[in-house]
Amino acid sequence: MPFNLSLSEREAAGLKRSLPVIDRVSGRQLWANGKGYLNFAGNDYLGFSQAPQLRVAAEAAAREFGVGAVASPLVVGHQAIHRTLESELADWLGLEAVLLFSSGFSANQAVIKALLGKGHWLWQDRLNHASLQEAGALSPARMQRFAHNDMAALAAKIKPEAGLIVSEGVFSMDGDQGDWQGLAQVAEQSRNWLMIDDAHGLGVLGKQGKGTLSEQGVAAEKVQITMGTFGKALGVSGAFIGGSRELIEYLHNHARSYVYSTHLPPPQTAAILAAVRLVQKADDQRDQLCERVQQFRQGVAGLPFELLPSATAIQPLIVGDEHRTLRLAAQLRESGCWVGAIRPPTVPKGSARLRITLSAAHTREDVQRLVGVLHRSLPR
Ligand SMILES: *Cc1c(COP(=O)(O)O)cnc(C)c1O
Repeated sequence: MPFNLSLSEREAAGLKRSLPVIDRVSGRQLWANGKGYLNFAGNDYLGFSQAPQLRVAAEAAAREFGVGAVASPLVVGHQAIHRTLESELADWLGLEAVLLFSSGFSANQAVIKALLGKGHWLWQDRLNHASLQEAGALSPARMQRFAHNDMAALAAKIKPEAGLIVSEGVFSMDGDQGDWQGLAQVAEQSRNWLMIDDAHGLGVLGKQGKGTLSEQGVAAEKVQITMGTFGKALGVSGAFIGGSRELIEYLHNHARSYVYSTHLPPPQTAAILAAVRLVQKADDQRDQLCERVQQFRQGVAGLPFELLPSATAIQPLIVGDEHRTLRLAAQLRESGCWVGAIRPPTVPKGSARLRITLSAAHTREDVQRLVGVLHRSLPR
């Protein structure tokens, strides 16, 4: 056999992943094996996955346009509903133009592959998402990682006018924010381009949920490439790249996972459009999420685990050991709370963690219950 398919080493190290089958899931709850749980492992930060406005939009689009886009965008797949979504997204975020992708993973890969060639440089925060790290590793460009949010380390490595700096709005496994004032300054001074992956900031942070740049008061023009996803706070799935009209037209021609992939189905597109309209007015949900986050942080303050300095919906408790993390997650599950057990290579070695995510869909009592279960499962 030409391949080694054995997973026994991963299993012994507590690193084997297994695929759970979930009967039903929302931002607040899930059901599996006939049992109900509170869901503290998802990314449905505003509860939009179950919002009536999105469901109605998807149903109506399915009736009117069918369930498939029929073709890739440049052939005949790009319909009026896609164009409407693009233009409302661009208006909301103050972008000149955007293009849609079926996933954030493919959007990140597409941009880096389409833009960077041999001779270019790519600087990435060490904690950037796997889709960005992998695109960089596969790219002919030279990639350098800088220590997490360390602007001095980045400034020391940077070369003038040589490529692209990429970081995240909100880091997916730590919950802290990138230093966008600092990044914009380094990029401007070195005349390099800057790209933000705002998968976890979009919809949640900033005025009208515009995201991390708005939250930090950084002008959209300082960041040449914006990537956002529809699968987190917007409650659906899919992603976009935003930037200048010139950049977007370039990507229409060179982004291979855009050109060679079937376009987003109309019901999905309609649901995303409804989410974009709803999210701009969702201050109540954003306030509610903030309250739950504060409640959670106060509740777990006395536990013997490091709670990362996160003010967002992502609240990781660092356990360290992989086996212990798995045991704790199993214990929490026994008590009806489903949390993520995140282990290397998703996070650095020795920093295995319970990744607890909160949603506006959670009630005060839900968070109280989680805090109680954590105190019983993690004795000091
Ligand atoms: C989830 C995520 C992605 C990938 O987005 P999908 O649409 O789920 O493929 C990219 N970057 C970050 C930071 C993410 O958290």
